[in-house]
Amino acid sequence: MAGKKKSKSKKTSDLHPGRPTKPLSKLLRLPKGPVDLNRLDTAASPGYPGSGKTDAPALTAALAPELSDLQEQLYANGRSDVPGAPSLLVLLQGMDTSGKGGVIRHAMGLVDPQGIQLKSFKAPTKEELQHHYLWRIRNALPNPGMIGIFDRSQYEDVLVVRVDQLVPVSEWNGRYDEINAFEKEVTEAGTTIIKCFLHVSFAEQKSRLAARLASPAKYWKYSPKDVDARAKWPAYQEAYADALERCNTDHAPWYVIPSDRKWYRNWAVAQLVREHLIGLNLTWPEATFDVAAEKARVAKS
Ligand code: AMP
Ligand code: MG
Repeated sequence: MAGKKKSKSKKTSDLHPGRPTKPLSKLLRLPKGPVDLNRLDTAASPGYPGSGKTDAPALTAALAPELSDLQEQLYANGRSDVPGAPSLLVLLQGMDTSGKGGVIRHAMGLVDPQGIQLKSFKAPTKEELQHHYLWRIRNALPNPGMIGIFDRSQYEDVLVVRVDQLVPVSEWNGRYDEINAFEKEVTEAGTTIIKCFLHVSFAEQKSRLAARLASPAKYWKYSPKDVDARAKWPAYQEAYADALERCNTDHAPWYVIPSDRKWYRNWAVAQLVREHLIGLNLTWPEATFDVAAEKARVAKS
């Protein structure tokens, strides 16, 4: 009887009473067309199945077993030289204090660190400056089977570089198409890119900067440069809006994560990763040896 038949593959709905009300890859996907950041709510919680902050630790933790299984399957495919084994790249962009570090700790921290390749992009070094701006990005792309995390990315080259006029307009202006072509090449080589813009409000940034100055345990997170960048908020918002609009492609779309609420932000990114891993339709790699023969050998040994 079909109803009684036990399925070996676990259904995601069985595992996750707290899954989103609708896929976040639909709800948070930036629509094509002109981008007005002021119209994108920084404090919303689309798709969140709980009632608020108090549910978040449990809902996020509930994701861990499934995320961990999916990541292991991805890793297994990379390890066993499956031709065309995929990889995932979680790219994080956002103003200072938007929570790139928090997402890495709380959302990406749910999976086995052995399967993670984390790269933080700072102001380019002397060596990096001698190369094309995509050189260091290319070098940091995840290997097959891995989940790459970019804490900042190629987008800094059309954000801080544009706002601080580090190169002429004609140069940064050509970079949007170049980034789109680069991301196309990367996705065609088997890497699924999840571009997350952590959208935080001007007021929330102020309160987070003040909190960093209020506790010696948080001084290390504070940089006087953050206030300089804050002073250029409108220019940054304009640069972000352009990067989101001009690089919102089918092969590498942007997701806008409302980030005034840390608990929503962390849960949402973990969900997005889960949905993309499911979308890879992974299977366990076939044994490269004769399983029956090996069982017999082990039994005899
Ligand atoms: P943090 O992420 O707080 O450690 O800061 C890293 C700093 O590096 C930020 O101020 C970025 O704007 C800066 N940065 C990252 N990439 C670039 C780039 N391509 N050009 C100039 N500055 C950059
Ligand atoms: Mg910083």
